Amino acid sequence: MKELVILGSTGSIGTQSLEVACRQGYRVTGLVAGGNTELLEKQAREWKPKTVAVFNAEKAKDLKIKLADTDIKVLSGEDGVCEVAGGEGNTVINAIVGIAGLKPTLSAIESGKTIALANKETLVTGGEIVKKKAKEKGVAILPVDSEHSAIFQSLQGAPKGSLKRIMLTASGGPFFGKTKKDLENVTVKEALNHPNWSMGAKITIDSATLMNKGLEVIEAVHLFDISADKIEVLVHRQSIVHSGVELSDGAVIAQLGTPDMRLPIQYALTYPERSDYAFETLDLFKAGTLTFEKPDTDTFRCLPLCIKAINEGGIAPTVVNGANEEAVKLFLEGKIKFLQIADLVEKALTSVDNKKDFSLEDIFHADETARAIVRKGD
Ligand code: NDP
Repeated sequence: MKELVILGSTGSIGTQSLEVACRQGYRVTGLVAGGNTELLEKQAREWKPKTVAVFNAEKAKDLKIKLADTDIKVLSGEDGVCEVAGGEGNTVINAIVGIAGLKPTLSAIESGKTIALANKETLVTGGEIVKKKAKEKGVAILPVDSEHSAIFQSLQGAPKGSLKRIMLTASGGPFFGKTKKDLENVTVKEALNHPNWSMGAKITIDSATLMNKGLEVIEAVHLFDISADKIEVLVHRQSIVHSGVELSDGAVIAQLGTPDMRLPIQYALTYPERSDYAFETLDLFKAGTLTFEKPDTDTFRCLPLCIKAINEGGIAPTVVNGANEEAVKLFLEGKIKFLQIADLVEKALTSVDNKKDFSLEDIFHADETARAIVRKGD
């Protein structure tokens, strides 16, 4: 029996994962949300998982009352989320946003589940620890992020050691081609207006700053054991080529498709098989001209800051990630300007002493230190 736990089931990836799970005949055994109990209640009644968890303890209490007429167990807080991640089921999709996804990924690995990973912050912050634990437990980590899924798909059949270069594509977000001056007073609404993808708020802002591409470079370093200098970022406005690889004989293999997260989600759930079910298929005539350009790293500084962080190693990627999470929160609340996101990320990166040997505790400490620097401001 294929049994699935979905962490972050009320979000953009989470809701699409439920749709794919339905088509693929999965039984859903656990669902997790941050605080949207209205949607989680609906999902729980429809999918009848054994257990659900809500990070927000007050909201969990409400949900427990609402689901009192069912047999569904309701857990709360970080412990509850981790218990569901490590509970019944043989596959987990982690679609929680932010570093909050790290501990649940570790719980799921501990329980031996296959990990379908959308939560890129897991590898950005805890890459070494997560990979070591996954190896010990013999657990597979399958990428859900569309670029990493494309790279993974392009590598199927490629001999070990033949990967020479990754071509990581980026849509460029809503502000491609803009200058720093143009970006001085952009609004939250403008930053949330992504041209090609409909996603949660945090990743949409990360796409506008190119932080998302920076986090993806770090994610790719961990997933494909490659150094950052072998990862080339290309702005590809059409989001048709989802990324590709260059192999040792110079062959370039890429995965193409319409921008639809349900395909990478489905591939992670059916791997190594291919499902007979296709979403909207690609019409290359309709797609028209495909273009590739270099990113403007002077204007969109979050990308080079992430590359600097992964080259430094240690807890530097966690610092960049934590500072960004906090800065994006402040931007969405209207408390800082768009360009300050990169300034604050840089400030945190240059202020926190790096630590090359680190524990899980050090990661959370570095995350909190970076957030405090951002909250303090300039
Ligand atoms: P959303 O904001 O849409 O959803 C986030 C989910 O996480 C929600 O279910 C939310 O619950 C839940 N959540 C938030 N905080 C916690 C917490 N502390 N404990 C448990 N659950 C929590 O995000 P997305 O779906 O857009 O993104 C999710 C992840 O997938 C991110 O890491 C993102 O980078 C990655 N990703 C997303 C893509 C996309 O197309 N959206 C593409 C590739 C990667 P609630 O609704 O109750 O707040």
